[in-house]
Amino acid sequence: MSTVENQLADIEEEIEREVPSDITITEVRYEGPELVIYTRDPKRFARDGDLVRKLASKLRKRITVRPDPASLSRPEEARETVLNVIPDEAGVTDLDFHTDTGEVVIEAEKPGMVIGRHGSTLREITQEVGWTPEVVRTPPIESSTVKNVRNFLKQERNERRDILERIGRQIHREEMSDDQWVRITTLGCCREVGRAAFILSTPETRILIDCGDKPGADDEVPYLQVPEALGSGASSLDAVVLTHAHLDHSALIPLLFKYGYDGPIYTTEPTRDLMGLLTLDYLDVAAKEGRAPPYESEMVREAIKHTIPIEYGNVTDIAPDIKLTLHNAGHILGSSIAHFHVGDGLYNVAFSGDIHYDDTRLFNGAVNEFPRVETLVLESTYGGRNDYQTDQEDSERKLLHTLNNTLERDGKVLIPAFAVGRSQEIMLVLEEAMRNGDIPEVPVHLDGMIWEATAIHTTYPEYLRDDLRERIFHDDSNPFLAEQFNHIDAGEEERQEVADGGPCIILSTSGMMEGGPILSWIEHLGTDPDSTLVFVGYQAQGTLGRRIQNGWDEIPVGNGNGRGRGNTLTLKMDVETVDGFSGHADRQGLENFVRTMNPRPEKVLCVHGDESSTQDLSSALYHEYNMRTFAPKNLETFRFI
Ligand SMILES: [Zn+2]
Repeated sequence: MSTVENQLADIEEEIEREVPSDITITEVRYEGPELVIYTRDPKRFARDGDLVRKLASKLRKRITVRPDPASLSRPEEARETVLNVIPDEAGVTDLDFHTDTGEVVIEAEKPGMVIGRHGSTLREITQEVGWTPEVVRTPPIESSTVKNVRNFLKQERNERRDILERIGRQIHREEMSDDQWVRITTLGCCREVGRAAFILSTPETRILIDCGDKPGADDEVPYLQVPEALGSGASSLDAVVLTHAHLDHSALIPLLFKYGYDGPIYTTEPTRDLMGLLTLDYLDVAAKEGRAPPYESEMVREAIKHTIPIEYGNVTDIAPDIKLTLHNAGHILGSSIAHFHVGDGLYNVAFSGDIHYDDTRLFNGAVNEFPRVETLVLESTYGGRNDYQTDQEDSERKLLHTLNNTLERDGKVLIPAFAVGRSQEIMLVLEEAMRNGDIPEVPVHLDGMIWEATAIHTTYPEYLRDDLRERIFHDDSNPFLAEQFNHIDAGEEERQEVADGGPCIILSTSGMMEGGPILSWIEHLGTDPDSTLVFVGYQAQGTLGRRIQNGWDEIPVGNGNGRGRGNTLTLKMDVETVDGFSGHADRQGLENFVRTMNPRPEKVLCVHGDESSTQDLSSALYHEYNMRTFAPKNLETFRFI
């Protein structure tokens, strides 16, 4: 018998000692990080609300109770009872019974009403029918991504269960080594922005944190081939942790499955969905540009199938000697700081991912309180000595001023924006300004992936800023449902209509004008001197956006968007730049994050910034806060214990 089997037998004995004698336990098994208890008496478990909590603290494990399939009532009968227990106002849109696991997945417009106070309604459901309820939100705006991911996981449920059981056994295997050390190896994004990837290793375990591409340099990928990473085989990795869905952190995660990786990806639920959306688009763009994509869409599905979503603040066993906790990073939807607790109090490392320290309209600011942290791996995008950004309030005032000027002369405003994050932030600014009468009420057209990304945001209000979350919970105040927002979904014909119509605002991808429908908009509006092109996001060196900012006015048009193939267009529209809408902390924000961090780390590795930014930030933190700081290069290894 393997040691995991012995372990589970011991646990089963212990559970049987703890629970009242009229409860029969039929099986105990690991599924991913969770311990799942199968019982013939799920109703009895549900009646004693404290029982599971007591078991969890006694066994120091996350516990799920499921009915033994033999004890289940028939789905047709259970359906009616479940619907009777749940209040009508919850707006149930789907019930899905899984006979193999005894779970009933309930999709509802108001999940809170299905859960009830401290889970009382959930317990009532189990008490009545024996099935274990699992609740998901019906997206207030229909999202094809969310729908596809949920349908795919439903379809793959059996295989996923096997994957989870295998991962569960890996996590709870017996520790083999008596040695003690903790190391980090940098595989990318050091003294550069892009291709984020790190290895955290102990004698027992090897974890990959992020695996991104480098925008504008497709041949520069993380150093995955070194022995520390995949050099000794993809199966030598225990787990992958993804901080957020931006492609410079996520693009090459599906590639790992092509290399034979078969383990878990830990991230938040919205990051899983956004990763699906963005990596599939990444393959699309590569195909359109005639580049060979590094992997097929099948690998994206593998990545989604292997994702174990975890919520902010939940401490999760991911290896025999490592616990992972994700915390809000304030950067984009679902973005996290990944905190690792190694050994039994041996060492603690936090990887910041990308952070925004102050609150924005969309998100609460990044969390910087941890039980313990000895080393912080910190992004430095705006770590340079002069990287101070305009206050968001000033930026908003400037944006509204520009909008008013253009709309007053019957012009149109064209804003290139990234689908995820900046677009939704600007939508919130526009919605409020129109509600308050600060700008005229004109249609706001959303083109490219912006609508889809917005729909994903409204599916996960728990991840948004407190007051925004409350507004989304009540449909009539959901700012993203405001009637001025229009989804451009009929392509070129609709664009032509908008271009021929009255004053309006258009938000369109891509954010740096490298492809996407924004190029078509430029063809429609570029020669109109009454209209204005407004940049609200960073324009990287070498992009069309940057060239226009620098005064270029001969724009190549017709690159795959229909009209005027191979021509140039003389840009006559106004060009404005409004900064301050960044998803990143600026130099002040980064310093504030470290200064108020509790506890203060002993060491800081400044990464994810160009050479001068990382070195500036590293030297400032050393001088001001007297900590050991580094601006590592790629392929350096640090030993901490
Ligand atoms: Zn990012």
